[in-house]
Amino acid sequence: MTTRKVFILLLNIFSSGFLFSQVQFSSDFESASIGSVKLLDSVWIKSTPTDSMLSLSYEISSRFDPLNPVDTSLSPSARWYYFRITGVKGKQLFINIRNSEAIRPFYSYDNKNFQRFEYVENINKGQINKIFIQDTVYICHFIPYTCSHLNKKYAEWAGSEYVKTEVIGQSQQGRDIRLMTLTDRSADDANKKRVWIHGRVHPSEHPSSWHLEFLIDKLLDGSVHSRALLANTIFYIVPFTNPDGVYGGLSRSASTGVNIEINWDRPDPLTMPEVKALRGKIEGLTKEKPFDLFLNMHSQISGTITYWIHTAESTSELMFRKQMLLSALTINDNPWFAPADLSFSDVAPRYVEGWIWNRFGNNTVAVTFETPYTYYKDNKNGEWVSLDNLKSLANNSLFAISDYLGVSSDARILADVKVSGSSGWKNVNDDSMAYFGNECLITDKARQRVSAKVKLPEAGTYKIYTWVAGAVENWSDNLINRWKEVGSVTVSKKRTYKWRGTSDQLNGVADKLLFLK
Ligand SMILES: [Zn+2]
Repeated sequence: MTTRKVFILLLNIFSSGFLFSQVQFSSDFESASIGSVKLLDSVWIKSTPTDSMLSLSYEISSRFDPLNPVDTSLSPSARWYYFRITGVKGKQLFINIRNSEAIRPFYSYDNKNFQRFEYVENINKGQINKIFIQDTVYICHFIPYTCSHLNKKYAEWAGSEYVKTEVIGQSQQGRDIRLMTLTDRSADDANKKRVWIHGRVHPSEHPSSWHLEFLIDKLLDGSVHSRALLANTIFYIVPFTNPDGVYGGLSRSASTGVNIEINWDRPDPLTMPEVKALRGKIEGLTKEKPFDLFLNMHSQISGTITYWIHTAESTSELMFRKQMLLSALTINDNPWFAPADLSFSDVAPRYVEGWIWNRFGNNTVAVTFETPYTYYKDNKNGEWVSLDNLKSLANNSLFAISDYLGVSSDARILADVKVSGSSGWKNVNDDSMAYFGNECLITDKARQRVSAKVKLPEAGTYKIYTWVAGAVENWSDNLINRWKEVGSVTVSKKRTYKWRGTSDQLNGVADKLLFLK
């Protein structure tokens, strides 16, 4: 054999699977993150009498956020991982993730289409085991929602006649903090409800951004319901409050290491530029009128959706009732959210909700809404969180918001119940029950009549629901604080329909009616 032939033979051996297929981990792209990577073991296993396969075990860790210079007692968090591995085709990989959750996380061969690891590939929590069929794979905690993705969606949303965009400040690293205002500008702003929503305080919480994106998409879909909501409401939305954290693939902090979720009651020199920008804008917008609703969108490791409800003791009976009404409306007819999933805590000024409570008291319901990464209702045998069910959840969230604000539309007709004739009904203002508005009708007598006049916009059959207002302290009872179907009506053309009911049918409490075609 000539020297030249030997050289070509060696080149073939190397390129056929030795030198060029070394496994490499990297995180040199947007929102990527990995801490340490340690090779634990590498063995050739005979998969058939004639074939061998390389089996590799790694221990990796999620990268820690920078040290928090403001809340010095807090140790830095690590949770988010999103990395690329090359040279994996045809090899069996065991990846042990040390300081984060790996409960059926996601992988992708093209960094665009992500899927969950199957149950058999992740039998032990924290350990992925898979033979990859392509040479490059991306692995992440959840389907990434990056700055590039938001830029694309933002450009699309900005083209809508209902959207106005502005920059309200800059992050520590100079990224724009952007606010979108969504409303129907042909309707008078003075009578509109006002809703603030912000997201991605914690950069690792990617499911929350998908939920918010679908909520904005739904608001702008041109449907009867969305158009009515925009004619009656102004939505102020900041999709990314922490763009540096999102871009840098951090877990819970901004680029400075500060967790800006708990930076709202600090003296000025210790307040982060992101919080200053949000506070400044909120102060400006609320000079004339407070917000009616303030949603802080997060995601949590527990396999449940939750609202963080502030206790009546730390706020007021009225505030507790309002929060419970919003929760009950969100849980209503929602396959992914059970009353038992609600969380309760005292309001505290270091959080935005506490800052809002101290300024606006009972006027503004400010709550954190959490979506899970894994499954819903603590049920790992049920549906796992996907973009599809986050989209359905967003539709549900928007119904809850419009009902809570009392926005009636032809697609979702709300009506007030009135006393019919002389009766034993009493108007009661009792914050121990989750009803709409300032008071509801209560009676302990049988056969007391109520009615409602409802404009039905077109021919068809409408289902009729009554709101079963019950005690807020029985919040885990599935039979109260929900829309209950009580009948239907069919009309052959647009007309006004008079609904009649009795105290027996309503268990002695009369509140709102809902008509759905
Ligand atoms: Zn969070």
